[in-house]
Amino acid sequence: MHASMTELDELQEMRENIRRSLAALELCWSCQRVCECEQDLVDDAAPVWLCCACREKLHADAPPEPGALLWPSPW
Ligand SMILES: [Zn+2]
Repeated sequence: MHASMTELDELQEMRENIRRSLAALELCWSCQRVCECEQDLVDDAAPVWLCCACREKLHADAPPEPGALLWPSPW
């Protein structure tokens, strides 16, 4: 049985999503875990990679960013 076009499209989309997730994987500067990180500034120093949890901790006292990204996490 052949996969329909829709199924192929879904597979391709899934592959794209995985590729995007992998590209976002970095070693967190703060907790040293490999996870989805974003670049952030610590004490006006050089930009570092921080995971969501550490970013939240870091910015706990600061007002939340209006355009903050919510990463769709598969795990
Ligand atoms: Zn972290």
